[in-house]
Amino acid sequence: MIRTPLVAGNWKMHGSRAAVDDFAAQLRNSECPATVDMLVCVPFVYLERLALALADTVVAVGGENIAETVEPGALTGEINGAMLADVGCRYVLVGHSERRAQQGEDDAVVARKVNAAAAAGINPVLCVGETLAERDSGQAERVLARQLQAVLTACSAQTLDKLTIAYEPVWAIGSGRSASPAQAQQMHAFIRTQIAASNVTLSRSMRLLYGGSVKPDNAAALFAQDDVDGALVGGASLNAASFMDIARSMV
Ligand code: PEP
Repeated sequence: MIRTPLVAGNWKMHGSRAAVDDFAAQLRNSECPATVDMLVCVPFVYLERLALALADTVVAVGGENIAETVEPGALTGEINGAMLADVGCRYVLVGHSERRAQQGEDDAVVARKVNAAAAAGINPVLCVGETLAERDSGQAERVLARQLQAVLTACSAQTLDKLTIAYEPVWAIGSGRSASPAQAQQMHAFIRTQIAASNVTLSRSMRLLYGGSVKPDNAAALFAQDDVDGALVGGASLNAASFMDIARSMV
C-alpha cells in the first residue's frame, strides 16, 4: 500500500501523570501492529513524560496545538514548534474543530500553524470537517474545500509532503454517532479530489484519517474504505486497550 495507515489518539484536556504512566506501560506490554503507524497526542504538560516512556517503542507522541509564530518571543502561554520537537514530539494536531470553535482559529491561523509545524520538523495533522448545520444545508463539501484550500495555497510542496489530513465531521466528535463508512468514504474521496486538483502525486500519498466517535466496534468497517487511511480517536484513545484494538482493526 502506498500509504502507511496511521492511528492517532487525541486526549484533549484529559490525563494525569498517573494516567500517562499507566497508558505507556500498557502499550509497552502490547504488541503494536507492525504495519500501522501509531501516535498519541496529549496535553503539553504530559508530552515529555509520555515521549520518554515510549522512547524505544514505535508509538509517536504529538502535541494538540502549536503557536503560529516560529521564533521565540513575548507570547505568554504559547508553545512553539521547536519546544514541541525538543520534548520529543513528531506530530501536532492543527485546526481541531474544538479550537476552531472555542479559540476562534480561522483558516488563516490554521495555515500558519501548519507552516510553523513543518518549520520545526514536526508533521502536522490538519483537522477539517463540517458542522451538522452545514451538512444539513448541503454545504459540507464547500466547507471542506475552503478549509483545504487555505492550507494547500499557503504551504510549500515540502510542507504538504509532511501533512496528514483528518476528516472529522463536527457532529460525530464525542457524540457517539460516527459517520457511516459510506459517508466517510464519500468525503475522503472528495478531499482526495481537492488535493489532486493542485497535485496528483500528493493526492495519492496523503494519509486521510477519519475522526468522530471511532470505537473498537466500528473501526474495521471504516478502515475497509479505500480512502480511509486510519483514524483520529478522541474518547477511545484514553483507554490503552481500546486504542490498541482500534489500531489492530487497521491490519
Ligand atoms: C477527536 O477528539 O478528534 C475525536 C474524534 O473525538 P471522539 O473520538 O471522542 O469523537
